[in-house]
Amino acid sequence: MELKARRDVPVGETWDLSLIFADEGQMWAALEEAKAEAARIAETYMGRLAAPETIVACLDEQEKLWQTVARISSYAGLALEADYTDNALREREEKVSDAVVRMESGLSFVDSEILQAPDEVLRAAAERAKGCRVYLTDLIARKAHRLSPETEKALAALGRALDVPYTVYNTMKLADIAFDDFTVNGRTYPLGYSLFEDNYELEADPAVRRAAFRAFSDTLRRYENTTAAAYNACVTQEKTMSELRGFRDVFDSLLFPQKVTREMYDRQIDRITERLAPHMRRYARLLQKKHGLNRMTFADLKIALDPEYDPKVTIAESHRIIREALAVLGADYTEMVDRAYRERWVDFARNVGKSTGGFCAGVYRQNSFILLNWNDRMSDVFTLAHELGHAGQSMYSDAAQSFYDDDPSTYLVEAPSTMNELLLANHLLQTNPDKRFRRWVLSGVISNTYYHNFVTHLREAWYQREVYRIVDAGGSVNAEVLSDLFRKNLELFWGDAVEIPEGAELTWMRQPHYYMGLYSYTYSAGLTVATQAMLRIREEGAPAVADWKRFLAAGGSLPPAEMAGIAGVDITTDGPLNATIDYIGSLIDEICRLTEEIDGIRV
Ligand SMILES: [Zn+2]
Repeated sequence: MELKARRDVPVGETWDLSLIFADEGQMWAALEEAKAEAARIAETYMGRLAAPETIVACLDEQEKLWQTVARISSYAGLALEADYTDNALREREEKVSDAVVRMESGLSFVDSEILQAPDEVLRAAAERAKGCRVYLTDLIARKAHRLSPETEKALAALGRALDVPYTVYNTMKLADIAFDDFTVNGRTYPLGYSLFEDNYELEADPAVRRAAFRAFSDTLRRYENTTAAAYNACVTQEKTMSELRGFRDVFDSLLFPQKVTREMYDRQIDRITERLAPHMRRYARLLQKKHGLNRMTFADLKIALDPEYDPKVTIAESHRIIREALAVLGADYTEMVDRAYRERWVDFARNVGKSTGGFCAGVYRQNSFILLNWNDRMSDVFTLAHELGHAGQSMYSDAAQSFYDDDPSTYLVEAPSTMNELLLANHLLQTNPDKRFRRWVLSGVISNTYYHNFVTHLREAWYQREVYRIVDAGGSVNAEVLSDLFRKNLELFWGDAVEIPEGAELTWMRQPHYYMGLYSYTYSAGLTVATQAMLRIREEGAPAVADWKRFLAAGGSLPPAEMAGIAGVDITTDGPLNATIDYIGSLIDEICRLTEEIDGIRV
């Protein structure tokens, strides 16, 4: 189907950015006011941040300014996300970003002056602070790892140069890489990054699926040395920074901002690798038998168990389904879902130049905006429920937290969103007793929710840890080392259930996450908390829901272990993770049972 131009999509399927500013004129006026306010704050406080009350007053005024700035950035940025082909929107967004960067650098004295104050002043400031308490406490913790002002200044000046590895990676991936067409049985197929990941990996015809995988890998391989060099520069730099700043090792340095212990990090990787593998191998064997494949390869893992069964859902129907599925979270949550549809928080449309995938962007103490590319599939309903989970988190934490303390640690970011996926699956299972439907829902939970978070991203996390171990011991990595590691990684997890064909070892080239520190493992961490809290809600009802809402409202005001404790999940032990892996196993057992009943296939 030809994609429409943005101006031709029905307004009802677009989001309403006038919820932020009535029109563009109002946004420019707000920007002018913000610039004046930034100048006033600089004039008032520069050189004067020595006393506790002044520090707190300055941070409080700055908080209001950043709130306005965030609204302006959302207005300009979201409009562009919906249509990157519109040059006027692009120019406007660039003007806004430029102004924001200027304001930020004009106010960068605030943090550096605060950090120069003696510890007792900082502690006194943190005590009297309300909205900026956690922000100040975090600054104090960072102080121990700060270098001399001259060195910090030099590092800040080098900031853009230090980002070069990621820029090189993205340029390779988004601009340089060019895929050749491939041919199967005389028919030619076009190939590209998203064509491969969104279509061919899920393609039901094994000949086309595997040929696409070969063609995709062959092209990736041409860029392996450049990509490895960029990645080596990135991890070497992270190691150097950890040494300069006096961390014990590169892991401590990267976990520091997440407020996560080494034990919590290692546990996700080790437990899932050991204990989830037998369950996932069984699922792979089931896929193989159901599809009648004589070999099961890495290129076959993303196919649906029952591809012909794919219920269609309209946007209007999705409202009813999501509303019912999330009703367990209470009337205020349902009201948020209704508002999302009524006030047009969601951009459903598919049009030329729009960002792919989906995301949710919150506007502090206002509402969230959700970008989707709606295709009338039940999987779109899951994506929307997921994004509404982020919106729900924002709603509760915005109301309870300051702008500074609003965002949870990366460790927990995906908990509210995956909770909604699980609640939606529970609801669907209750509404329709049909076996094939039931199997379709359960296998979706495995092949989407858990595969994505507990397998794809976790294998990345395992590999990343090996890379950092090499770098921490003073070594470096190249394409050969990285490919060997990734092959070993996949073989370790899949054993003899899945063949790892030539090209699978290049999976290390596919993710931008590697340039973002220890990020990949957090997907499984958030979903562990969500799974245990969901099981509690299923068992206990109201009290567990109340705890979940308190968890959402806590935002980023506490470290992850204390946050999860509010939801009744004790992540200081490995109990929740083990229980989650057992739960995944029980779902796979049921899928196998249903397949035996429906198709007479046994694994
Ligand atoms: Zn998400």
